[in-house]
Amino acid sequence: MEFSSKLLENAVYEMSQLPGIGKRTALRLVLHLLKQPEDRTTKLARALDAVRKDIKFCSQCHNISDAEICEICASPKRDRSLICVVEDIRDVMAIENTSQYKGLYHVLGGKISPMEGIGPHDLNIASLIKKARQGETKEFIFALSSTMEGDTTNFYIFKQLDGLDVNISTIARGIAVNDELEYADEVTLGRSILNRVPFERSLKAN
Ligand SMILES: [Zn+2]
Repeated sequence: MEFSSKLLENAVYEMSQLPGIGKRTALRLVLHLLKQPEDRTTKLARALDAVRKDIKFCSQCHNISDAEICEICASPKRDRSLICVVEDIRDVMAIENTSQYKGLYHVLGGKISPMEGIGPHDLNIASLIKKARQGETKEFIFALSSTMEGDTTNFYIFKQLDGLDVNISTIARGIAVNDELEYADEVTLGRSILNRVPFERSLKAN
């Protein structure tokens, strides 16, 4: 792609570094911004800058938060005996959208994936085990996507929790294999949490 302006080329290059944005789309977006009033771009740039600099991760569940403790963990209305274990923040958003779940979350920050070099120590697993030992949690609900990495991660945590006095369940698999939680419709996802099954039973089914 030949550019008549270095400034344009730089902007297009930076935009094209985002996932799913090729050079052509990047060019279209930059040209679109150029046609908008200047403060559109300023607001966009400021919002991105602020989200990067000021965002915090909840010290209890690792959810994205504006404060030290996120709104979910801080809410007196949530059932503190239930913790739903999810891969990332998008899963928290998807489950919250169902309005079917009133417990807390624990965001792992990914899945164990030897192929990508992600081991248990790269994820928020130690803090989950610590929570289990504190004794306030009665049940952990595994809600990872049912991919091989998801299953590996579930099994690893299940083994780590062995011997502790907590129930472990997994969301019902109305969600097809390889489907990411984020894409499940709200009704299916809501039901799969309500119809969760003991984790050990899901192992025997395989
Ligand atoms: Zn939290």
